[in-house]
Amino acid sequence: MNTVAFIGLGHMGQPMALNLVKAGVTVKVFDLVPEAMAELTEQGALMATSACGAAAGADVVVSMLPAGRHVRGLYLGQEGQPGLLDVVAKETLLIDCSTIDAKSASEVAKVAASKGIEFVDAPVSGGTGGAVAGTLTFICGGTDKGFEQAKATLSIMGSHIFHAGGAGAGQIAKICNNMLLSVLMIGTSESLQLGIDHGLDPSVLSEIMKVSSGGNWTLEKYNPCPDVMPNVPSSHDYQGGFMVDLMIKDLGLSQEAALSSNSSTPMGALARSLYVNHGRKGHGQLDFSSIFEEFNKKG
Ligand code: NAD
Repeated sequence: MNTVAFIGLGHMGQPMALNLVKAGVTVKVFDLVPEAMAELTEQGALMATSACGAAAGADVVVSMLPAGRHVRGLYLGQEGQPGLLDVVAKETLLIDCSTIDAKSASEVAKVAASKGIEFVDAPVSGGTGGAVAGTLTFICGGTDKGFEQAKATLSIMGSHIFHAGGAGAGQIAKICNNMLLSVLMIGTSESLQLGIDHGLDPSVLSEIMKVSSGGNWTLEKYNPCPDVMPNVPSSHDYQGGFMVDLMIKDLGLSQEAALSSNSSTPMGALARSLYVNHGRKGHGQLDFSSIFEEFNKKG
């Protein structure tokens, strides 16, 4: 069985790495915050004292970091310190699962390619629930060879693995999806509130729209109106789930991508503005379905 170095053990990385450990993979972990490694080492992971230390001798490196600057720093090096691309063997497969700008992903992939190393960008969909359950969707960008090699490791942590295209394509596909999701969430929220304002029961209205032409994922799986669905963040004070701050980050990435390609994304731009406004009111840590409160009279 391969040795996997796992770098970045936050909300997502920790349960993802744990699934590798449970599957019997030798996992070497590193996070800047030592406490983040405690549970994993209790479960059998090996603790490293640096990212380079974790990656030394590993067959596969998986990273799950906050943003592009962290990923560039990890692989390319920063402040005179070497990056992973300076130390790993040519045969090491590098998989970055963070959601970052496609430009950074392509930049790292280019340097990796110049050294004959495969780098795959593989952002995920499915949130912390999917990370714990091992049912994430991985949306990959990279060469055919890199993608084929990555499947074995990714399939332990997820149930759907897509190859969107070359380097950076995984990141573009991921932000297209999240931009659409934000627009659907806002549209569903304002429609539900319009019905409520005219005396409709949101549960009845949701059932009607779900099987009518307005039906969409948020109505089926993630209703933003409290108490319509039992096991979603809206019925638990918008706790857990996918944070407003992360949606703002992804909508920022989609707008940067739109600027770079001169694409027209008016709904995405408006969605970003509405989410930024919502976050600035102190709701950044709530689930993104809390945007419903912007339309609710009591909100
Ligand atoms: P997080 O902030 O909980 O975890 C990030 C971890 O990386 C932290 O533990 C931090 O200490 C560590 N870290 C940062 N720089 C490091 C470095 N140089 N070396 C080692 N460790 C370092 O973030 P998260 O919620 O786990 O999200 C990670 C990525 O996944 C983000 O890009 C996010 O957009 C994406 N994502 C998150 C979710 C979600 O629901 N949380 C869903 C899909 C995608």
